Amino acid sequence: MAELGVGRPTKRRAGSAVGGLPVADSRPVFTGDAVLGSRCTACRYPSPQQGLPWCPFCYAPVTPERFAVTGTVWSSTVVEIPVGTRRPPFGLAYLDLDDGPRVLVHLAEPVVPGLGTRLRITGTDDGDLVATEERS
Ligand SMILES: [Zn+2]
Repeated sequence: MAELGVGRPTKRRAGSAVGGLPVADSRPVFTGDAVLGSRCTACRYPSPQQGLPWCPFCYAPVTPERFAVTGTVWSSTVVEIPVGTRRPPFGLAYLDLDDGPRVLVHLAEPVVPGLGTRLRITGTDDGDLVATEERS
């Protein structure tokens, strides 16, 4: 009997093949001064993904868009269990970008920022967005 979990994929990552097809990386791309994504040409719906074939809300065509790297916390938590290569504790938040979509960010510190706290995306860690509290 095979050992449980051995040889089974535990997490889909870009580039790995599932059923012979490559897996696209759906995480937002951070350029240093913007988060790249798409915006609908009809309803203006913002999406943190590039290369969408159509608007996920109204199915109209989309155009590439650059979104702000600042926003407000919609929700946050501190994860207390290991996940992949990450060791606890580490913080996660959903961030509503100022002119754009809601994105998942890792927090530089394992704290729970209050709802509405201003965060700035400062970089990436293993492809995931990393944000810190915005200082004014
Ligand atoms: Zn739309």
